[in-house]
Amino acid sequence: MMEPIMCPFCGGAELFEEEQTEIEADDEYWVIYHWRCADCNEVFDKITSQPISDAFEDVEDEGTIWS
Ligand SMILES: [Zn+2]
Repeated sequence: MMEPIMCPFCGGAELFEEEQTEIEADDEYWVIYHWRCADCNEVFDKITSQPISDAFEDVEDEGTIWS
């Protein structure tokens, strides 16, 4: 989980996470995190994406990469 440390608009640190949006595209899986600042009431997003094959694969695969 990636959390912002401050509001990009006013620099305030009172942030509330709102419900995230998950989008499944053709071959990518998107998660959009929404944050609201308590100081200025602005909402900003953090968008992450990853290939669907990675999102649903087991961590086992990473073992073969690192071992
Ligand atoms: Zn703010």
